[in-house]
Amino acid sequence: MMPCAAPRSQQHNRARKQQLIVSSASTTTATMTSQGQSATLGRGDAENDAGGSKAAHFVFVPLREQGHLIPAVDTALLLATHGAVCTIVAPPSTAALVRPTVDSARRSGLQVRLAEFPLDYATAGLPEGADDGDSIPPMQMWNYYRAMALLRAPIESYLRAHAPYPTCVVSDFVHPWTTELAANLGVPRLTFFSMCTFGLLCQHNLERFHAWDGVEDPNEPVVVPGLGRRFEVTRAQAPGFFRGIPIPCWEEFADYVERARAEADGVIVNTFQEMEPEYVAGYAAARKMKVWTVGPVSTYHQRRTTLASTLASRGLRTSAIDPEECRRWLDGRAPGSVVYVSFGSISQADPKQVVELGLGLEASGHPFVWMLRNADGYHEAVRGFLRELEARVAGRGLLVRGWAPQLLVLSHDAVGGFVTHCGWNSTLEAVAAGLPVVTWPHFTDQFLNEKMAVEVLGIGVSVGVTEPLTYQAVAKEIVVGRGVVEAAVRSVMGDGEEAEGRRRRARALAAMARAAAQPGGSSHANLLDLVERFQPGAAGGAAASEV
Ligand code: UDP
Repeated sequence: MMPCAAPRSQQHNRARKQQLIVSSASTTTATMTSQGQSATLGRGDAENDAGGSKAAHFVFVPLREQGHLIPAVDTALLLATHGAVCTIVAPPSTAALVRPTVDSARRSGLQVRLAEFPLDYATAGLPEGADDGDSIPPMQMWNYYRAMALLRAPIESYLRAHAPYPTCVVSDFVHPWTTELAANLGVPRLTFFSMCTFGLLCQHNLERFHAWDGVEDPNEPVVVPGLGRRFEVTRAQAPGFFRGIPIPCWEEFADYVERARAEADGVIVNTFQEMEPEYVAGYAAARKMKVWTVGPVSTYHQRRTTLASTLASRGLRTSAIDPEECRRWLDGRAPGSVVYVSFGSISQADPKQVVELGLGLEASGHPFVWMLRNADGYHEAVRGFLRELEARVAGRGLLVRGWAPQLLVLSHDAVGGFVTHCGWNSTLEAVAAGLPVVTWPHFTDQFLNEKMAVEVLGIGVSVGVTEPLTYQAVAKEIVVGRGVVEAAVRSVMGDGEEAEGRRRRARALAAMARAAAQPGGSSHANLLDLVERFQPGAAGGAAASEV
């Protein structure tokens, strides 16, 4: 049950009959009550798809944030490519982001469907439409998780009412309530992570070996236990999922999430075996559960298309720049000459930091594409600075004020490096593109991902940030100076022996990533294994006991 007095979903559902809308590109719409009784049942997808199917049916329960949603949808599409039926369940605002991709997959014959479940904002204590914007404000995140948990009963009713019956629930690790959903349905549940197993194992070992005991200072480094190699990390850099937030509810929620993770029947991870075999094996052994590595999941799109608009749509948001224009701009630059700069879908640089970063990029002398989230939200002085910078670097610097077509940019030959906040998707997308990175972590798992890029893979140069933005005693306006930015970019993009070594390693990793995703490769084989194991009647649940 949801901690901190979250209302029981059953009670809630007695009080309020939720409407469920089954959306489809090609069929009429069905509506149902939350109790699973048909109200006006049209020809929903369920009746058209996979009638009497012997195929595995995965139910995906993703989180709305892009770093979670994009790889979960990619994974569903990959499983469908291998013959599975996949249902993605989501509130309307999330479904709206996903629908064009699902519709396109359906048109190409994949059995992917999208089931929408309206959130009960009032009961969860959320403002109406709280999830309509770019991302959910941090202060509302707790109630958003509660609102998602309230969807358990309507989702269950829907799945019971619409053939084929599910054979496996695949849920983002932030949805511990899916334990109950899967148990009620009598099917296994796999936890989905878009993280590296190196980071997962570090975090797990820090907790299970009590590495923080007796360490008062959150910025004091300790050695991560049980890795067989020396890595140092501070508690501030790796506090654990939902840990270290000074509100009691979150600590309880963190325990709930951890219980659900420990009780899962297996784990699906967006990484690939060859990149980190010792950590994949180490995490499986530590968790005593099977780990299916299926990444890089972005290859789903790259293998299907080279169309700029289609590659851009993979980001699930409208690009702030015309993808064709972006590609033309890149076409005009020399191979390997451009550095791409992005801090992902959540992080945003403070005004003074934006100026330092811009000046550092200018001073580096390299062409750049710079994605600036919420650029129009900065005050006039910063907006003016950006306009002047743009004029000075015209033809050499491209500012994207808003969502960038990242996969399109990274896969272009002109791009030779990536200044990244080390979100795992961005890091793995850099690996898949064979690019060295400048690492600039901000918070959450990004510090562990930086270690992965710099210390494990040897493809990164750090800008030297050691404290997460959320842990600074006094918020710093400038975390990284222009000189550091310039030096890091020159280092990654330069010609020296070290830079060449990083590029060689990055190219070798990209070749491994491609091989992993192809027939005979590890990720390809794991996807096939999932589809086979979770067929109706197959002993999918037995996977839990295997390591
Ligand atoms: N992304 C994108 N365009 C942008 C920013 C991000 O397409 O302008 C995509 C990016 O390719 C990645 C995801 O959004 O797949 C961001 O996930 P990541 O784990 O890198 O960072 P987060 O946003 O979760 O911090």
